[in-house]
Amino acid sequence: MPVTLRTSVPIPLTDQAIATHFVSFSGFSDGKEHIAIIYGAPEEQDTPLVRIHSECLTGDVFGSQRCDCGEQLQEAQRLMAVQGGVVLYLRQEGRGIGLYNKLDAYDLQDQGMDTYQANEQLGFDHDQRNFAPAVEMLVALGLKRIRLLSNNPHKADELLAAGIEISERVDTGVYVNQHNAGYLKAKVDQQAHRIKLPISAKSVDSQ
Ligand SMILES: [Zn+2]
Repeated sequence: MPVTLRTSVPIPLTDQAIATHFVSFSGFSDGKEHIAIIYGAPEEQDTPLVRIHSECLTGDVFGSQRCDCGEQLQEAQRLMAVQGGVVLYLRQEGRGIGLYNKLDAYDLQDQGMDTYQANEQLGFDHDQRNFAPAVEMLVALGLKRIRLLSNNPHKADELLAAGIEISERVDTGVYVNQHNAGYLKAKVDQQAHRIKLPISAKSVDSQ
């Protein structure tokens, strides 16, 4: 059964004049409640901007400085307020291990592990995220050709493999601080994320 559109509800967002709709779906392969936030009318654009964002309660809602999720989401919202687009918000907290396990992983990181080692220490793959629901939403929305806002090459690879055409990869900004520098460095060193870290940030992790 293909994923189908369930409900599209207008929800105005703070500081954004552009029309925004929250869209729900039926039939996700993983049974979770993922959501698309539609800015303007991307279906009328040749190559709408798309951000695939995995839920991060601590960063998205509370502004945690241990990661860069909140800043990346805000950046996507700023861009889409101007040019339209879609945020595909995936309900897979902590790279798919859940909120409590993520907090356990933070605890391990404070004892010296990096973000991937910590997940493995807890018995998980280093990254359990599943991007199939993002593809399912794009197909249900009729968006087969997009510009992808991401610095994660693995997301682009998964979309391409699923038949989504990516006309352009738009890197997200660099949001480094003293608390997340090691986390960002691990993303660059181990998973080839395209984050241009300043020299000062690269040295933080080796201290
Ligand atoms: Zn985060």
